[in-house]
Amino acid sequence: MTTVRRYGGTTVGRPPEPATAVPPYRRTAEPPSDPLQPCVHCGFCLPACPTYLATGDESDSPRGRIVLMRVLERGEIGPEDDALVHHLDACLGCRGCEPVCPSGVAYGRGLEAARERLYQARGLPPLARAVLGVFRHQSLWRPLFTAARAFRATGVARALAGGGRVGFGMGMLAASRGHHERSEGSASGEKIPRAARDDSRSARDDRPTVALFRGCVMDTLFRHVHDATRRTLEHNGYRVVEVDGQTCCGALHEHAGDRDAAVALARRNVAALADTADYVVTNSAGCGALLKDYGHLLDDDVAAGLAEKVRDVSELLAAAGPKAGASLELDVAYDAPCHLQHAQRVHEAPLAVLRAVPGLRLQLLPGHDRCCGSAGIYSVLNPGMARAVLAAKIEAITAADPRPAILATGNPGCLMQIGAGLLAAGLDTRVAHPVELLDWSYAADVSRP
Ligand code: SF4
Ligand code: SF4
Repeated sequence: MTTVRRYGGTTVGRPPEPATAVPPYRRTAEPPSDPLQPCVHCGFCLPACPTYLATGDESDSPRGRIVLMRVLERGEIGPEDDALVHHLDACLGCRGCEPVCPSGVAYGRGLEAARERLYQARGLPPLARAVLGVFRHQSLWRPLFTAARAFRATGVARALAGGGRVGFGMGMLAASRGHHERSEGSASGEKIPRAARDDSRSARDDRPTVALFRGCVMDTLFRHVHDATRRTLEHNGYRVVEVDGQTCCGALHEHAGDRDAAVALARRNVAALADTADYVVTNSAGCGALLKDYGHLLDDDVAAGLAEKVRDVSELLAAAGPKAGASLELDVAYDAPCHLQHAQRVHEAPLAVLRAVPGLRLQLLPGHDRCCGSAGIYSVLNPGMARAVLAAKIEAITAADPRPAILATGNPGCLMQIGAGLLAAGLDTRVAHPVELLDWSYAADVSRP
């Protein structure tokens, strides 16, 4: 039997409405009819592109890829051209090129269309097909990740972590473990039976309700982050409810161009989550970016309505304060996930969460706003480039003075990629989700005499 730690204290008042970070392609906004058309080839985006910085090749830059996507679109070069496919496949999809573009090029939308075109013509390479096939079926990914969690608990993954391909994979698994993991597998939120949803809010309880989006990797390898999410939200005046019937968000499939699979998964989530709560919360930046884009993906009003309710956990916590807990004397570096800062345009909320922890010394290291090379399954498919992109981040952490004890970031892929890089480099900096730090602060507050 698992126990879930709750910090005491009553919550006073209803948290204010969280400011909504405007998703760049919200369905109600005018959709970009030709997302790449505004490009004037100025090159301002080049220094923001991690793959261009790694190779120095124009074809690995946003400007170069826009030219490739254009010729593909016009049929001047076909999807059978291996060089074109190589350079488009090497794009991380991090969208670091969007905020620096003075012309407002919607690069992510253009990439999405190009990858769908390539997928229709070529399908996927066998490794990508196998990995995405697993994420498509809960009957596959749940036992697989559950077994991985059991293996992780033995400590063997941590012992074998290193710089080679196997060692790095072991490091990724080891890095997914919580620091104070005591209660894997807990689920403390209230369950809402389908029939009872409309009456789910008690007349005496006017707290905003929040349905936790469980996801796949987060629901297996990162349950400690779900636990921290529930506890910190409850402590800040929200009522967290559990909703059955959810599955993987589909972001990995969408990024690979397999739109049919992404749509199928999204439909299941919309059916499960629609009309369940005031908000749908996610603690995974990658999932959040696609959940907020479900209106565009499914092109229907129910999905658009659900997408409007999606918030990153940091947005809800920041709107509520959040409350301060006990002091944690820690040097912490924050690393901004691409799908939180560029795709969701959420910048300040995670910093507000960390600044709510008294004593915590927050650092923003050089390159904290640049991709770590994880990018969904990119690090599995393109390990060489993924490691080259990660190297700059590990160098910045190595050079930091003081060296952070914790690297905080709000996405499972980033936590695993950076965590594995730290283990491979032999650094004692560890990774954690920002809500974990707030949770530790609240827990320390409760245990204070
Ligand atoms: S994408 Fe934007 S920043 Fe990059 S070359 Fe085109 S117009 Fe310039
Ligand atoms: S999405 Fe990222 S990797 Fe791809 S072109 Fe833009 S900045 Fe470069």
